[in-house]
Amino acid sequence: MIIAAAAAGAASGGILSLVLTALDHRDPFLHVWVMVASVTAALVALWVVQAVLGRRVGRLVRLFERKGAGRAERGRERAEGEDLGRALAAMDRLLAQAEMGSDTASGEGDADQTSPLGQTLVGPTLREETTSTRTLRDAAESQRERDLSKTLSQKTAELEQRLRERALLFELLRESVTSLDLERVLDRLTSRLGPALELRELAVLLRDESGRFAVRACWGFPSAEAVLGRSLEPGQGVTSSAVASGKAIVVDDVSESPDYLAFWGEVPRTGSFMSVPIRVRDEVIGAIALTRPPSDPLTDLEGRFLSALADQVALSIHNAQLFRKLEELSTIDELTKLPNRRYLHERLAREMADARRYGHPLSLLMIDVDHFKKLNDRSGHPIGDAALVLVAERLSRSLREVDTIARWGGEEFVVLLSHANEADALEVAEKLRRVVTEIDTPWAREQPFGHLSLSIGVAELREGDDSASLVQRADRAVYVAKREGRDRVSLPPRPSQPEA
Ligand code: GH3
Ligand code: MG
Ligand code: MG
Repeated sequence: MIIAAAAAGAASGGILSLVLTALDHRDPFLHVWVMVASVTAALVALWVVQAVLGRRVGRLVRLFERKGAGRAERGRERAEGEDLGRALAAMDRLLAQAEMGSDTASGEGDADQTSPLGQTLVGPTLREETTSTRTLRDAAESQRERDLSKTLSQKTAELEQRLRERALLFELLRESVTSLDLERVLDRLTSRLGPALELRELAVLLRDESGRFAVRACWGFPSAEAVLGRSLEPGQGVTSSAVASGKAIVVDDVSESPDYLAFWGEVPRTGSFMSVPIRVRDEVIGAIALTRPPSDPLTDLEGRFLSALADQVALSIHNAQLFRKLEELSTIDELTKLPNRRYLHERLAREMADARRYGHPLSLLMIDVDHFKKLNDRSGHPIGDAALVLVAERLSRSLREVDTIARWGGEEFVVLLSHANEADALEVAEKLRRVVTEIDTPWAREQPFGHLSLSIGVAELREGDDSASLVQRADRAVYVAKREGRDRVSLPPRPSQPEA
């Protein structure tokens, strides 16, 4: 470039010399000076041009270089993106196939004969395909991917919905079972759980005072009356095994289980069954027993859910039972330690409601100690107190756990006999009368009959009775016994019979 510029300078110097010669300027110094100035000017011009243009050209060159690099980068990214897209789509397909089984892969052509992930790695095979085949294949594949992804998102939505339902159910149960009323706890539990889990039958069994597991609440049975109150014989049924082991037992097909009771034959011997113990710490206080029809067997997930639920419910049931005990404690008679009249009123109302609901009989005994005033007068009040304690103890010992005895007041007691009709009640009353005559003490021997004695009135619950009318009839029966000589058991006077 420098030589060219110098040559250009020399050429322009030569031209200027010719012009000067033509104008008759022949001074050789002038011609030399013009020549040197032209060459110098050409070199300076070259330097200036190089300095100015060089920067611009450099920028231009760098710009072109960057553009080129950007294009290359985008090309690479696009290529990578396509690979990633294909890999993700392939992974989706794998997940969908794993979710739905292998049937989705059947009949889908050659493209699916290799692993979808493999397709992204075996580029040469694809590259060998013709453009039209690839286009068709791509279209089919993307349609299939769209379908699979739709199915996958539907399944995910269903799963999320089920999880939400379970969470909601748990929350509902948590709220509903935080009552201290045992009946309400059980009722809410069965009425919500049964429909929510789409069960066929559901029963809650609780251990009673005799240690047996009895049905205290149920749902879905053709006849609740046939099941409620029934208790398992020791070792009977799948539930006995579940409560003995403290672990849930699932029977997938009850038709093949000889232990399955079918709720004492009240429901079909088909489908699946589960019995989940209700535990408080290490103690089993009951069980939740449930069935599902054969078309919709119980799943492991539901088993785990029910076990967790049973733990939750256990505390509520236990609290309600403790609360009931506390309530009973506050209604205990100081002297005899028997429930007092207040408790008896509550208990009587419950027993009457149960008897009516489930159609079983109920009888009430009114017991009055004969000639008690005489005992007090002769032996003193403390002996009178001791006699009352002794009578209370003998009477209690002679009754079943399910029966209720209370001190009605003074020297009077009331006994409630569950599931007992008049004839049963007369029998029990006679037994009670007898055991009291057997109290052998010096002060008892001084009583008019030579022993302590009772007058007992028996009344069975009738239609239209309320608790007052039932007690009143038993009371009238006591008067019959007194009138007829004491130390006996009597029925209330018949409507035609004159009262004492
Ligand atoms: P009847 O055979 O007709 O029943 O005669 P009775 O003497 O048993 O009946 P009455 O109702 O005349 O007397 C009941 C007595 O029981 C009167 C009362 O002083 C006594 N009594 C009531 N409560 C207690 C108590 O807690 N301790 C004692 N020692 N005596 C009581
Ligand atoms: Mg009396
Ligand atoms: Mg008396």
